[in-house]
Amino acid sequence: MKIENEEALDRLIICQQCHTLHEEIPIKDGTKAVCTECGSMLYHYDSRLVDNGLAWSITGLIFFIVANSFPLVNIELLGHEQFITIFKTFLSLFDSGYYLVGLMSLFLIFLFPLMIFLINIILFTLLKLKKAPQFTKELLILFSHIKPWSMSDIFLISVLVALVKLIGYAQIHMGVSFWALAIFVAIDLYITKRIHISEIWMLRKRIFENKGNR
Ligand SMILES: [Zn+2]
Repeated sequence: MKIENEEALDRLIICQQCHTLHEEIPIKDGTKAVCTECGSMLYHYDSRLVDNGLAWSITGLIFFIVANSFPLVNIELLGHEQFITIFKTFLSLFDSGYYLVGLMSLFLIFLFPLMIFLINIILFTLLKLKKAPQFTKELLILFSHIKPWSMSDIFLISVLVALVKLIGYAQIHMGVSFWALAIFVAIDLYITKRIHISEIWMLRKRIFENKGNR
């Protein structure tokens, strides 16, 4: 079906809470637009979004690399000491024959979170340089496909649950990676909460429309 006047559709925004349609209007820097029906926030405009997004993404990636490079926990049981790293958990799943679970964990806990932060860094860098309108569009679409499958937060919680169950049986020492993972998850949640994907779309439109008009 051919939609008449797609340009006009581009200027509409849907409220995530009550699903009413609103026309997108330009707002001042640092202010937000709210839904007239339910009062929830539709979007906000922050001119420093690109710089903030880039800074948080790079910081997150550094913590992600640290989380994957050092031991997560050190478990001492009956005189045996064992260091557990994130990568070791994948290997032991494969070793035990749980290939599907191992592969899924590799994607959900390692590849997708890594890809999301790399996409963010490339995306914000390109937006900052005002380059590659088509590629940034493809990156944003890829981002929205992968985002629901990044499960570092769920992994962190399951590690905590497993450790709580081990208390009393074994001596547990948290490694550097555990704290790095916790900070990484916090940054990931902060970015998700602070920067809505619709706002990046709007920002992209604003950047390349302004550029086109010049
Ligand atoms: Zn609403």
